[in-house]
Amino acid sequence: MRATLMYEAGDVRIENVPDSVIKHPTDALVRITASCICGSDLWPYGSMTRADGPARMGHEFIGIVEDTGSEVTTVKRGDLVVAPFAISDNTCAFCREGLHTSCSHAQANFWDGEAEEGGQAEAVRVPLADGTLVKLPVAADSALIPSLLTLSDVLGTGYHAAVAGQVNERTRVTVIGDGAVGLMAVLSAKRLGAEQIVLMGRHQGRTDLGHEFGATDVVSARGEEGIEQVRELTGGHGTHVVLEAVGNMPAYQQALGVVRPGGVISRVGVPQYEEAPIGFGSLFRHNLRLAGGPAPVRAYIEELMPDILNGTIEPGKVFDATTNLDGVPAGYQDMADRKSLKVLVNP
Ligand SMILES: [Zn+2]
Ligand SMILES: [Zn+2]
Repeated sequence: MRATLMYEAGDVRIENVPDSVIKHPTDALVRITASCICGSDLWPYGSMTRADGPARMGHEFIGIVEDTGSEVTTVKRGDLVVAPFAISDNTCAFCREGLHTSCSHAQANFWDGEAEEGGQAEAVRVPLADGTLVKLPVAADSALIPSLLTLSDVLGTGYHAAVAGQVNERTRVTVIGDGAVGLMAVLSAKRLGAEQIVLMGRHQGRTDLGHEFGATDVVSARGEEGIEQVRELTGGHGTHVVLEAVGNMPAYQQALGVVRPGGVISRVGVPQYEEAPIGFGSLFRHNLRLAGGPAPVRAYIEELMPDILNGTIEPGKVFDATTNLDGVPAGYQDMADRKSLKVLVNP
């Protein structure tokens, strides 16, 4: 079968690999019908060394169950399923608390970890299939597939940012980043009733979509100028919640600059730094809190799916390009060049 491999920064190839097969009684074998490239795939695409490659890529997919191990009970051959970007049993203490990314039974629970497989491929072995996979009540060619595919990562991640930031009807929110996760954070803040949603982003096509998803204001300036503009829009105080969907130090500093005293910075952009200011002059002085982490998107699938099925939200609008497996290497480059927001892959 064919799969996507990243050899090092800038070097993505489609190659033949051994067919995925069931290895454990709790596995399922899924034939992938839709997957995509993630903004987080761009971090290794920009920095991965040859010593760390080749790595199987892709952690967001929908597919049809082709086979199941003897212990799998919740999905069966022929079911259309969506997989979150983290593997989990959905039954341990952490999963029951909605923290599937800390599942006790999936130590290395990301696709390129324990599974050593990827979603940008023709098929994939899914560990802990009963917990990981969720059946979709539509056909593989449904017009809802792009929106349902966002349940595997970006929608749940944006939603987690808003939930971890405790967004509600009385909160003003700043979203930092106009990538797919930032736009999903806007949509999520809107869903939770936020009073004001300021989107910080520089790409007009994306911020226009942000308006559509519920942003009340857009600030394209960055640094001190951007911070000043957000403060002007919020009576000089900044916002109660900042949803940080980028992950680099300038974004963190931007968050510190626009958060209101007593507020929360909720991070879902994968931090590309190990150290950040949390002392007196940054978080402590004004009772600021830091929240967020890898989103347990599995916890939100049942809650968010009905809104997609009944048309209340249309998160699939973040996909602005579609390709097949052969087009995946170019898809990475287009996303890195900001020519595409998010690329859908029909293997
Ligand atoms: Zn992703
Ligand atoms: Zn668990």
